[in-house]
Amino acid sequence: MQSLPRLHLYIAPSRLQFPLCGFSVELIVDMEIKEPHERTEQMSPLQPTARRIGIDLGGTKIEGLALDSAGAELARLRIPTPQHDYAATVRSIVGLVQQLEQRAGLSSDGKPATVGVGIPGTIVRATGLVKNANSIWLIDQPLERDLSLALTRPVRCANDANCLAVSEATDGAAAGAELVFAVILGTGCGGGIAVNGQVRVGPNGVSGEWGHNPLPWATADELPGPPCYCGQRGCIESWISGTGLASDHRRVTGHTLTGPQIVAAAAAGDAAAEASLVRLEDRVGRALAGVVNLLDPDVIVLGGGLSKLDRLYAHLPALIARHLFGGGALATPVLRAKHGDASGVRGAAWLWPA
Ligand SMILES: [Zn+2]
Repeated sequence: MQSLPRLHLYIAPSRLQFPLCGFSVELIVDMEIKEPHERTEQMSPLQPTARRIGIDLGGTKIEGLALDSAGAELARLRIPTPQHDYAATVRSIVGLVQQLEQRAGLSSDGKPATVGVGIPGTIVRATGLVKNANSIWLIDQPLERDLSLALTRPVRCANDANCLAVSEATDGAAAGAELVFAVILGTGCGGGIAVNGQVRVGPNGVSGEWGHNPLPWATADELPGPPCYCGQRGCIESWISGTGLASDHRRVTGHTLTGPQIVAAAAAGDAAAEASLVRLEDRVGRALAGVVNLLDPDVIVLGGGLSKLDRLYAHLPALIARHLFGGGALATPVLRAKHGDASGVRGAAWLWPA
């Protein structure tokens, strides 16, 4: 016979108010015996249970996170992304959600945790199919529908830069801001928009995706610009990303270095690397000035590998202000993502409102 505290483990709070007549005690004992032993060891009556699960589907890894109702982290897991295999990718996400629920505890009121998934692409509203994914095996697949069916609950998918915007607007660098523009300056460059903490997708699914607009205020030597994988030339992404920085440095100096190597060389006093970073900053400033003149967001948040560069936050306000319509100082804070690399998975969890 189990001790009394263990009898309480799987009883919804409302059940505890019932008088314990002989019949209900027998029923509770029966429920207890059917539960897996490992879960009885992990949970206590006061332990919070998973309300939200966020999944960040990356090209090489899938990260999952379970949050309780207050947004505190309960469990986090990471697995490799199956390469070029859509069905295996779906199975991996489903397995990850199940593992997170097991580790964090199922909701005590019987409601399954909500599931949001950040994807390297977008879901077109009219078709429900994935587009613009650099993990090409996702393209034209009904990922949101397949995950919803497999997990027997509605699942929301959103672009990873939109997840960054939602995460930072919820409890990050832009907490409480009405309109947030978020940029992932990583290997590539993506933009996302959150309005009142909620993702803004748009009928074409490309809200915030200004990375494939042309670099604004381009100089003669920047035209027509490098070819982009999207089919155009001179896209913002082909200039202001880790890849773009490396290509620009190679074009100007003839030396092949990666983005992090250029940053390290500049810090060590290499004048050519420093000049490459100055060009990068100027281009990021121009690209963001275009955003400010269009949207005038309350906060601009930067995430991704290049967002770790401290100098960006010192230099960007003046560089953006140079192209601000009507002039004057920039009133928009430009901030580093508070949750860093975790913002993608946190934002995915917050795709479902409270
Ligand atoms: Zn492009």
